[in-house]
Amino acid sequence: MASDLSAFAAENGIKYFMIGYTDLFGSQRAKLVPAQAIADMQRDGAGFAGFATWLDLTPAHPDLFAMPDAAAVIQLPWKREVAWVAADLMMEAKPVDQAPRIVLKRLVGEAAKAGLRVRTGVEAEFFLITPDGKAISDEHDTAEKPCYDQQAVMRRYDVVAEICDHMLELGWKPYQNDHEDANGQFEMNWEFDDALATADKHSFFKFMVKSVAEKHGLRATFMPKPFKGLTGNGCHCHVSVWDAEGRTNAFADEAAPFGLSAQGKSFLGGIMQHASSLAAVTNPTVNSYKRINAPRTVSGATWAPNSVTWTGNNRTHMVRVPGPGRFELRLPDGAANPYLLQAVIIAAGLDGVRSKADPGPHSDIDMYQDGHTVTDAPKLPLNLLDALREFERDEGLTAMLGAEFATAYLKLKRREWDSYCGHFTQWERDTTLDV
Ligand code: ADP
Ligand code: MG
Ligand code: MG
Ligand code: MG
Ligand code: MG
Repeated sequence: MASDLSAFAAENGIKYFMIGYTDLFGSQRAKLVPAQAIADMQRDGAGFAGFATWLDLTPAHPDLFAMPDAAAVIQLPWKREVAWVAADLMMEAKPVDQAPRIVLKRLVGEAAKAGLRVRTGVEAEFFLITPDGKAISDEHDTAEKPCYDQQAVMRRYDVVAEICDHMLELGWKPYQNDHEDANGQFEMNWEFDDALATADKHSFFKFMVKSVAEKHGLRATFMPKPFKGLTGNGCHCHVSVWDAEGRTNAFADEAAPFGLSAQGKSFLGGIMQHASSLAAVTNPTVNSYKRINAPRTVSGATWAPNSVTWTGNNRTHMVRVPGPGRFELRLPDGAANPYLLQAVIIAAGLDGVRSKADPGPHSDIDMYQDGHTVTDAPKLPLNLLDALREFERDEGLTAMLGAEFATAYLKLKRREWDSYCGHFTQWERDTTLDV
């Protein structure tokens, strides 16, 4: 693990560092800093004007300083003279409380105080599309059920293998790649890690996938529902909690139902209790709500949840317990901010552990077939505004995430919703012109 970026540059032939941070909307911002200047930047940080990015700051605020976290440095496998390094935002020598990586680090610290080490794996699905963004890039990828399509995944072998080779080189332990359930859609899986490391990898993965796709004359999108009628981009998150050394999985209890310990069930209880409000973070865009609660897709199933339910190994529910010692939250989508996704899971889960929350009874039904028979489980929010209202009302969750964050996030997201509502659609004309 690097601690001195100057030495890292000398050892690895780095000419430039990208000192990067992720803002509240998940946009990745960076400055390219020559290796000759990195020692000063590592000490003082790289300066940014906060108002120019999504952090709810004004043009009058003092400069932000992005302090690179040397332990998180990654040499770009596709541009070896450049290294990316995740940074933490400071202003006047104090952490910027609403900055996503700061929010997550604080919650990782809270979990540590409770003796918990949250380890997670994400499945960041994406589409390979044409550069103009209008269509999937492979005109032959037209099967009704394209999932795991052998021929179609090989037509994109050059892109997929290049990304997987990069993950191998970075030591992420990737273990499988496939064509997913929508035409043009792919998923690549690597091994789970501590929540902060997963968030950094998730950020870098999006950057890497987009970069390699562009190199091949394509475009990659993680948009939750880029094509009507096709399965959307999920970003399922698998969660387990370990002891401080990372040796014993505290969620695992072979004797318990589903192999989930009492603590695991409480953590899950927190997720269930806060599900409708945490959706404002796991499903953060207007488009997100066209993936959940969606009508059946061409392939036969959306693979996305509609209600707040949990189950064993059944992919039609919001939470699945695929095996002992972990659960899978299937709610998040490709627009989820990598840091806030981890933060909100820890916030809800930790709240559940503290209050010994009960996740309620599990359900074994096929939610796509028989979901209408469920009367005792809340429906997930139907749109971003409903989710934001739930989030605002959920004082337990917003307190865990921090008041500065909650205020800034709600303000910017409400503005996004208002901007959407100010947008006139053809649907309105089609349905209202002749009233
Ligand atoms: P599926 O498609 O069946 O949901 P994947 O294999 O695509 O599953 O992804 C599973 C993810 O869960 C991977 O990132 C994997 O490393 C992660 N994972 C496996 N075991 C655990 C665990 N105990 N805790 C957290 N994450 C885990
Ligand atoms: Mg300038
Ligand atoms: Mg998967
Ligand atoms: Mg998938
Ligand atoms: Mg999954």
